[in-house]
Amino acid sequence: MTEAKIISALNEENFSHFSKTYVPSRLLLGPGPSNAHPEVLSALSLNPIGHLDEAYISLMSDVQQLLRYTWQCNNRLTLPMSGTGSAAMEASIANFIEEGEKILIAKKGYFGDRLVDMATRYKADVSVMEKPWGESFSYEEIKYEIETKKPAIFAIVHAETSSGVLQPLNGIGEVCRKNNCLFLVDAVTSLGALELLIDEWKIDLAYSCSQKGLSCPPGLSPFTMNKRAEDKLSSRKTKVPNWYLDLSLLNKYWGSDRVYHHTAPVNMNFAIREGLRLIANGGLDNVWYRHNTNAKKLWKGLESLGMELHVSEDYRLPTLTTVKIPPAVDGDGFRNHLLRKFGIEIGNGLGELSGKVWRIGLMGFNSSEENVDRLLNLFDTELKKYSIFESSTF
Ligand SMILES: *Cc1c(COP(=O)(O)O)cnc(C)c1O
Repeated sequence: MTEAKIISALNEENFSHFSKTYVPSRLLLGPGPSNAHPEVLSALSLNPIGHLDEAYISLMSDVQQLLRYTWQCNNRLTLPMSGTGSAAMEASIANFIEEGEKILIAKKGYFGDRLVDMATRYKADVSVMEKPWGESFSYEEIKYEIETKKPAIFAIVHAETSSGVLQPLNGIGEVCRKNNCLFLVDAVTSLGALELLIDEWKIDLAYSCSQKGLSCPPGLSPFTMNKRAEDKLSSRKTKVPNWYLDLSLLNKYWGSDRVYHHTAPVNMNFAIREGLRLIANGGLDNVWYRHNTNAKKLWKGLESLGMELHVSEDYRLPTLTTVKIPPAVDGDGFRNHLLRKFGIEIGNGLGELSGKVWRIGLMGFNSSEENVDRLLNLFDTELKKYSIFESSTF
């Protein structure tokens, strides 16, 4: 009876009215994903080849080499993990924490919370230092906590996409080394967009994603670890409790042996090679400069329209700006209007900032003067339509 019902529900006639897959055109100026570069899209649409094909093996080496440049590091174990940013985030916890080990997490937004959740699931002894959403930690505060808590790992988010804060990282690597602790950095919204110097800043392990600064669709998460991290991994007493993200197994494929672990998402690797190649061809300095300049233009423009920004300029994040929703404005109404009428996405606040700020992203391919002008123009002409009072000051 049930079986017959299921089969009739699966009748092909139910799908005959489905049209060919269609996706509306959007300009993604929210917290991610960001639009992919057209060259990345054309690489993505190539026919797959085998993940052990020598042509693919050589492409893997290119990706690793390009990633080392983008991360500014010489780490042997530098690879794109299969999965979005959270996959590499989980790998960073799963591989380097053994039950009961101490991790100190500096939490100043939503993604700090996610790190705490993951570390707890892997049974770490979790200590948290915390700041309100919209502030950053000082070097002294971090130094004090590391020296008193003596964790095995210290984890911090470089670019907090939920609050719009850029965390300065200078000097922290040194403190970690003196205290025999690994320095773990979430660089999801900074890699390929903002100054990030893995070797110079003595960062032991870091992860990112493909869909923010790298002008690719979501699906891969660049990861890098140095010798200190490798030593910690090889001194584990227990197996990594996650098979898919086990770096000792992934190392056999991405290291020199090229032994099958899981089928690589080959097309995503075509895409990331292209995204990284575009960054390398433009030069990292220029890429960083472009992101900073366009963000400043956005900030200045918004302020001259009477808008207030949530984060102080000293540690404001160029890739993601949090703008206060004026009290007399229907924030969701304006955001939906931009999407439906103009095909432009901006984000709502996350967590405790929901309904209080909009989040505007200028990442990778989307960080352009033209996009800033277009958005500012819409704030100027459209926002007044969403004022709760008739005569708005906008
Ligand atoms: C987007 C983001 C992540 C998570 O990445 P996903 O690709 O969504 O899994 C982690 N950390 C930060 C800071 C992010 O902005």
